[in-house]
Amino acid sequence: MGLHRSWVDRANVPDCPFPLNNLPCGVFSTGADAPRCGVAIGDFVLDVAALEAAGLLTLPDGPLLDVPFWNDVMEAGPAVWTYLRDRLTALLAEGSAERKAVDPFLVPAADVTLHMPFLVSEYTDFYAGRHHAFNVGTMFRGPENALPPNWLHIPIGYNGRASSVIVSGTDVRRPWGQVKGPNDDAPRFAPSARFDIELEMGAIVGTPSEGPVTVAEADAMIFGYVLLNDWSARDIQAWEYQPLGPFQAKATATTISPWIVTRAALEPFRTPTPPREVPLLPHLQEPGPMLYDIALEVGLTPEGGRETIIARTNYAEMYYSAAQQLAHHTTSGCPMNVGDLLGSGTISGPEKGSRGSLLELSWGGKEPFPINGGSRSFIQDHDTLTLRGQCKGDGYTIGFGDCVGKVIPALAAPYAR
Ligand code: MN
Repeated sequence: MGLHRSWVDRANVPDCPFPLNNLPCGVFSTGADAPRCGVAIGDFVLDVAALEAAGLLTLPDGPLLDVPFWNDVMEAGPAVWTYLRDRLTALLAEGSAERKAVDPFLVPAADVTLHMPFLVSEYTDFYAGRHHAFNVGTMFRGPENALPPNWLHIPIGYNGRASSVIVSGTDVRRPWGQVKGPNDDAPRFAPSARFDIELEMGAIVGTPSEGPVTVAEADAMIFGYVLLNDWSARDIQAWEYQPLGPFQAKATATTISPWIVTRAALEPFRTPTPPREVPLLPHLQEPGPMLYDIALEVGLTPEGGRETIIARTNYAEMYYSAAQQLAHHTTSGCPMNVGDLLGSGTISGPEKGSRGSLLELSWGGKEPFPINGGSRSFIQDHDTLTLRGQCKGDGYTIGFGDCVGKVIPALAAPYAR
């Protein structure tokens, strides 16, 4: 399947991240306007809320788009997702009879502010990258015990914080916390000195569930995907994580990219998980390819400096797919809601340049890595971290929009009033 041609400027350029094949869902505003739903196409955002108000797009039980989130559309169900995609494709296709009517609803992307694209009902983060888990386990426990005994049988996860999920472009303040070095007698309360990123994909649940679901049902429940940066304070994490897992180390912020790329847009890029090292129990086996071939990279830009690409990898490196994670999440009977966000876990490849965290790139800070004009072990104040992702089709690209965050200095003293 090749490029679907559009009458919109630049949408047909092979490296444009937002061709007609993509149609990702975001929330935007211009000037003092209220934030509302929009869809990226070429160099524009299509004001689908205004299109709906003008009667050019009629959704069952609408209006659904004149709100600053896509949850209502997700809640309307998969038939409406398909109808919306088909209708927008028809309106924007080359040769569309409705071009003249739709054209006034295109807003130049350069003029918009992007907001959180959906209301995050809950956030769960996993640890499902084989290379990442092995690298971190080696650093924390040694190579013999790198993978915990459960790792090859279940996708390990923890319940994170929906309240601190933020959209790309929002600054992230370096956190304070309890830290204790291996040679310290007692912990100290201090700004994190080992603040880090985790390169992940986020899957967004669009269909709710009650009770256990199969992996195939779980796949069908996913509305779309975003890039996700799980900011992590490694010094706080190392002290707090046993026995209940990460807590404050991961609670400062989680940044997502501004556009939800739908499962429908990713369909041509499906790819299977890597071969199993031990067979999975039947309820977690994949009935078909449920990962995606998404090329990923991380850029680090110091204040006033030039960006260095510090990692390149691919979502296809994950050991477990989002569908397997979601199916596992429901085994207990745990209900899943519209707007549930699942972080994949850090996506690292086998080579040094494919590691999705600074912890791994600098091997726990022991091997600082070079950047333009310096080196890094962990993030310094005023560094900007940018995650990028794209799928390469035949003559077109599916982009996610950058997932950007700049780290600003810790508060001088958090309890001073
Ligand atoms: Mn994570």
